This record gives sequence, C-alpha cells and structure tokens, in this order.
Amino acid sequence: MAGKYTVGIDLGGTKILAIVVSPNLKVLARSKRKTKSELGIDGTCLRMKKASEEALLEAGLSWKDVESVGIAVPSAVDPDTGDALHSPALGWINQPLRKRFQQIFRKKIFLENDVNCGTLAEFRIGAAKGYNSIVGYFVGTGLGGGIVINGKLHTGVRGSAGELGHEIIEYNGRKCGCGKLGCIEAYCSKTAFCRQFQKLITQEGRKSLLSDYTDNDFKGIKSSALLKCYNAKDKITRRVLNKGFYLLGLAAANQASIIAPECIVFGGGVIEAFKKLPMPHIRRGFSENLFALSPEDIKLKLSALGDDAVPVGAAIYAKEKGEV
Ligand SMILES: [Zn+2]
Repeated sequence: MAGKYTVGIDLGGTKILAIVVSPNLKVLARSKRKTKSELGIDGTCLRMKKASEEALLEAGLSWKDVESVGIAVPSAVDPDTGDALHSPALGWINQPLRKRFQQIFRKKIFLENDVNCGTLAEFRIGAAKGYNSIVGYFVGTGLGGGIVINGKLHTGVRGSAGELGHEIIEYNGRKCGCGKLGCIEAYCSKTAFCRQFQKLITQEGRKSLLSDYTDNDFKGIKSSALLKCYNAKDKITRRVLNKGFYLLGLAAANQASIIAPECIVFGGGVIEAFKKLPMPHIRRGFSENLFALSPEDIKLKLSALGDDAVPVGAAIYAKEKGEV
C-alpha cells in the first residue's frame, strides 16, 4: 500500500490547511496551522510539514505511504517550470518555492494556484462532477476564478488564466486592489464590501447594524457578522452585497459568452457563510446579461466541498500530474 496516498495543502495568507486523501480521493484527516509567512519560506514550509504530519498521524499513516504533495498557493504558477516565483499575498518575491519545498519535504511537490485547485476539485468530485467544461468563482477576501475546458484545467500563458476577479465590468469604475479601475473584485469581495461600508457609514454617516459588530474601518469583519446584518435586513448590508452578487452574475454571463461552460460553481468564504442567499441575485445578473443562450443551458451551482475544495484540488492535481 506504500505510495498510494496524497497530501494536499492549502497555503493561504493566514492559515495552512493540510489534508490526506486516499487513492479514491476520500479525505481521511485534516490539520490546521497559522501560516506565519513572516518566518520566511523555510519557516512556513516547516509549518506545512508539521501540519501534514499531524494529518498523517490522525489517518494512521506516515510519509512512506505518501506518493506526492500538492500545494495550492495564492499566486500564479508557471506551467513550464511548475514553480511560483512571486507570492505577493505571502510577501515572497522572486523565490523559487517549489524547489525549496521539495528540499524540505523530501517528496515530489506539485504547485498550483489555489483557486484553480478549488475549481479542479469541484470538477472532479464536487458540484460540477460529470461536466466537461466549467468555471469556478470563489468569493473571499478577494475574488478568484478557475477554468476547466474539455476536462483540463486551463492555465494559459505563465499560468495567469482564470484571474476572473480582474475582469473589468465597468469602464472607469471602482478602484481595484490590483491598481486597475472597474474589476469585478472591486464590487464582489469582502474587501470591496468593506470599502463600501466605510464610504457609506464612516464617511457619509449612514446608520447601519454593521457598526455594532466592528469598529468603523470594517476590515476585520467576519462573514458571520455580515450574515447576521444581512438576515436582520440591514439596508446598507443588503444594498452593497446584493449589488455585488448581481454583478458577479453579470461577470459569469460574460464568461458564458467566452467559454459557454456547462456549469458555473460559486464558492469561497462569503458564499460558504451565505449559502443559497446570494443565488437569486447572481441568477438575475446572469440571466439579464446572457447572450444567445438561455439561463437553463448553464447550471449555476454552489460549491459542494467548502473549505476542503482547495487542499483536495491540490491533492488531485499532484496525483494526476504524478501519473502522467
Ligand atoms: Zn483588479
């Protein structure tokens, strides 16, 4: 049975989630740790290794049972080298991550972009299982995307395909974190929501329940607090979020006219917290802006894997790459 299991890791800006999957892609164990990217690549890598070992122990396995390790990183991965040089979310620039991770883990390491991994997992074993071509949107601090075409993850030139959060949906629109104007991420992400709250509540003095849950810069607001205010029919929360969800549907309609996938999956921290609530707004934005197709032609679905999507996708990626 040696060498049949795979470790998948979600290396996020704040936390590491390591999982162990069986040969038939069942999640056997999980372990979490803080990323602490300020410790540098070696320090963070040792934390990933520790988290993996905890998960292996819980699954009754050890490193000798592991064939390879898939690591989902918050950056583009060069498909030619399989490496990521720049990870601004972790504060690491010009550092060959894969090479160093491989030296520390002493295992075959495969890197892929985190949202691509999440999309791949939903495609193989999650909400989009059974389709050929899909698009994934993940709404969290930012807005990430992933594309699978004819059964294959589409990564594009220098691994930069699927950056769906930076599709411009409004000329000269809101300023995005990337420096451009009018990206969908500037309308539908936690960062975008917080900026709007700050503008409406702090600067314009509007009243909102949100002020009871956070200080007035809103940056650290939890999705659960957003949900409470949304459910309490707080006007500001509903206005900002519903507009964001509608525009996400519009952005998805744009993807439909480019890729015409059979299924579009919505996941990420905000969607996990809100479950079905955003769907009517996403569907309206989608159907009102769809070209040539009818809304029934493309299935819009919620993520089925939740927090596991990214590390499971990393494990699937490693397993499939390792078998080539
Ligand atoms: Zn942008």
